[in-house]
Amino acid sequence: MKYFTNQHPYNTLDAYLKSKFNSKVFKISLNGGFTCPNRDGTKGRGGCIFCSESGSGDFAGNPEENLKTQFQTIKKRMHKKWNEGKYIVYFQANSNTYGELETIKNLYEEAISLDKDIVVLAIATRCDCISDEVIEYLGELNKTIPVWVELGLQTIHPKSMKFLNLGYTLEDFETAVKRLRSKNIEVIAHIINGLPFETYEMMLETAKHLNTLDIQGLKIHSLFILKNTILGKYYESKGFKVLEMDEYVKVTAEQIAHLKQDIIIHRVNGDAPATDLIEPQWSRKKFVVMNEIDKYLRNNNLYQGIYLENKKLDL
Ligand code: SF4
Repeated sequence: MKYFTNQHPYNTLDAYLKSKFNSKVFKISLNGGFTCPNRDGTKGRGGCIFCSESGSGDFAGNPEENLKTQFQTIKKRMHKKWNEGKYIVYFQANSNTYGELETIKNLYEEAISLDKDIVVLAIATRCDCISDEVIEYLGELNKTIPVWVELGLQTIHPKSMKFLNLGYTLEDFETAVKRLRSKNIEVIAHIINGLPFETYEMMLETAKHLNTLDIQGLKIHSLFILKNTILGKYYESKGFKVLEMDEYVKVTAEQIAHLKQDIIIHRVNGDAPATDLIEPQWSRKKFVVMNEIDKYLRNNNLYQGIYLENKKLDL
């Protein structure tokens, strides 16, 4: 099934959710106080070089508050804009499967019981940080509420993965996808465009490779160079080419056109904390970037999956 709209010739998350739940669905980002094994030495030290010292999850709830307060605060904010809706509770900050099973269980189960209109539990984590017992548990939970697991891939290119200090490999990522899919859990991959020293072709290769994997969703965003990160310091001392907006628009639109049509595109650009953003400054104009991607697709008669269709027709 396709979830294209007149405005967006690709499967948007909004259209997918509306069709699945017959309602507007909000994502409420919670902070469960998890940490990251790529910082404490378990998998690596220093973290991924683009990640701020406080860890990922700049837009999640306040970890000083309990989940209920975080949920209520964000819910209230959302309802200033929209009257009605259902909710996805989203454990966003750091690696949300990094901990004892009991702690994980308590947090997830508390989160999904916060409101009767919660329809999905979404969990962001690392591909090398999901134990067998957590997978088993998620598989059981997935029978009662849809569970989505978001995994950072960022790129398929080993040199870039090393430069970024990700601490996992493409193989680790692929293994995690298989393990989660064996429990029927939806997997959402993250990729980054504009990584230092990656060419246009390399970014397309990353997107094309996703077609070989059993993933259900994708988040695409530009590389954010933030203050207080290793990447920020590297950029200020050595510099590297940052994508211009039109280059980002072109590569992202072309990636979409290469993707198979059963992938839901959750995002085509991200949010960076404005005060910490060094580059690219154009990424602050989130809706302009989104509109430009739509325009590029339309002007070039492209839509999600068109290149695969053409290949089938042998054009
Ligand atoms: S795995 Fe996530 S939280 Fe950990 S360092 Fe990388 S980006 Fe930050």
